[in-house]
Amino acid sequence: MFGQPLAPEVVQEGARLFEVLKSVSYDACHGWSQQTCEHIAPKTLKINQMKKDLNAVVLAHSYVTPDIVYGIADYRGDSYSLSKWASESKADIIVFAGVVFMAETAKLLNPNAKVFIPDTKAGCSLSDGIKAEDVRKLKAEHPGAPVVCYINSSAEVKAESDVCVTSSNVYKIVSNLKEDKVIFVPDRLMAENIKGYLQEKGIDKEIISSPGTCIVHDQFTPEQIKLQRAKNKNLAIVSHPECPPGVTAESDFVGSTSAMMNYVTTTDFDEYLLLTECGLVSRLQSENPEKKFVMSCRLCPYMKKNTLDNIHDVLETQDPLREVTVDPKVAKAALASIEKMFELAEA
Ligand code: SF4
Repeated sequence: MFGQPLAPEVVQEGARLFEVLKSVSYDACHGWSQQTCEHIAPKTLKINQMKKDLNAVVLAHSYVTPDIVYGIADYRGDSYSLSKWASESKADIIVFAGVVFMAETAKLLNPNAKVFIPDTKAGCSLSDGIKAEDVRKLKAEHPGAPVVCYINSSAEVKAESDVCVTSSNVYKIVSNLKEDKVIFVPDRLMAENIKGYLQEKGIDKEIISSPGTCIVHDQFTPEQIKLQRAKNKNLAIVSHPECPPGVTAESDFVGSTSAMMNYVTTTDFDEYLLLTECGLVSRLQSENPEKKFVMSCRLCPYMKKNTLDNIHDVLETQDPLREVTVDPKVAKAALASIEKMFELAEA
């Protein structure tokens, strides 16, 4: 028996998706097939039409799955670039395909838009690992030390902080602070990497940190790097500052998601080992099909809670339980720490 022929618009959308996804690994053994692309095409068509009807946009972090990134996202990028787009968007509705703290940041930056998160359980081990009261305790223990919070933190934690940072600007902002003691939350490993950076630059600053880590990046080890280097001498090791210092020390390049992408696209190694979330490898595979990647990435279970189905559902229902809200007093103080970041990052 043959199935029903596909509608021409589905065939066309399937072909569009296949063109951008054909170089991307679907799982450890397979790539995206034309058939898989035609299977998801009706959903991407429907969501893209709903966005037009509702004046909605989808912001997608590079760690979500490529069907979202290339099928329906209006903007794709890392926390810093998505924050900028959120603040500039004229949409009535923003669906944030990422994790809760990112959607909250979008709401802080664009309070007039309705901001939705497709799955409220899309947390983050960093932002869930610290509370405002922990920051208040650190401030009481180290009076006068400014608090720098990584963007992977809740609005309450941002509200207790002097300046927010992302992996794109953390080194610059911390180095330029005039104080010689700084409280940095919530990533202990990033704090260790900041200490290493400051030492290398000859900057004398004490960094007080808190115990959180990213469950994805703290899995990488220096042994893994040595093993891969032994197999291929012309291999570039590219890591994120959320990785342990033993890993960043062995890397050829350390940087934010955007900086890692830029490094891969502007260098010419035989192969690349990206010590980060698999979504970024997918983006690089799609956008640079001629480059080769050693598959050692890790999946973030929180980012993978975003699906075409739950994005479609949240657009259709505008479910109030998935609408992101922030207490106005908290929002005002949290926004001040983000605005301080934009000011210092662009100084
Ligand atoms: S990759 Fe790490 S830092 Fe990013 S959302 Fe997942 S747990 Fe949080």
